[in-house]
Amino acid sequence: MYKAPLGDKKTGISPAQRSFWLDRGSVFHLLMEAHNKGWSKEKTDAKLKEGQFDAKATQNGQALFASFSQRYNCDKRFSIQQWNESNIASEIEFEAKIPGSPHSIIGKMDELISYCEGTTNSDAGLWVGDYKTANAKATENKKRIEFEDSSQSDFYINAMRLLGRPVKGMLYRVVTEHVPSQHYIIPITRSESRLDVALLNIHQTCEMIEMMLSTFSAEKPWPHPGSSFPCNWRGINGRSNCEFETLCRRPSSELTQADLDQFVPNKPHLSLME
Ligand code: SF4
Repeated sequence: MYKAPLGDKKTGISPAQRSFWLDRGSVFHLLMEAHNKGWSKEKTDAKLKEGQFDAKATQNGQALFASFSQRYNCDKRFSIQQWNESNIASEIEFEAKIPGSPHSIIGKMDELISYCEGTTNSDAGLWVGDYKTANAKATENKKRIEFEDSSQSDFYINAMRLLGRPVKGMLYRVVTEHVPSQHYIIPITRSESRLDVALLNIHQTCEMIEMMLSTFSAEKPWPHPGSSFPCNWRGINGRSNCEFETLCRRPSSELTQADLDQFVPNKPHLSLME
């Protein structure tokens, strides 16, 4: 049986075929970063080329970026912050140590932003800003429910507060594929108790991963009920939406070249992970 290295152990593997949605989001984020950091057209084009994004996804991401820029360029309620003396707070990588734990929260934040909720400048506060692209089935209400349920803001709000940035919450700005695009501004806040539990939960999950690694290693499947997201996330045809399903619950020693051809070594998107 063929046994090939499954990419670097620390960074893992990704599906060789990237989804349209992933490429579209990456193009949109790249253009936002270029705009916020004042990149030249040459540098932006070179980065787009380097990303090898799908042509249709690139076109779509560019159209959504144009609509987003038109909507917000003159809106004085939003003001991107400096991260430090030399860097604007756009696409910022961070590492925040969890108190009382050997683990850290590592990530990349779209932006740190001042957002004025009310009518006067005294209503302005600091927020973690996040951009989302969405399809034409999206509604503001559906997106609000999705973000309220998501644990993403627990991570970012906790991380920024641990790093001494007193953010009020996480501010999502959604741009949709409707014609013309719709724009939703959705602020999400969290209670102190929810944030405390989230930190404990991150610590607990990291400890469990270490225990699984030492008990089963990375080569053998770990016991997993499969009854929660994303394992139970199936399309209308009943097929799994998990991109790794073909490898699921199989030891590395049983994987064939055909299995591995569907994946490529992960390019770490964080330099902190290199
Ligand atoms: S590979 Fe996918 S389906 Fe299998 S355990 Fe992991 S997330 Fe769940």
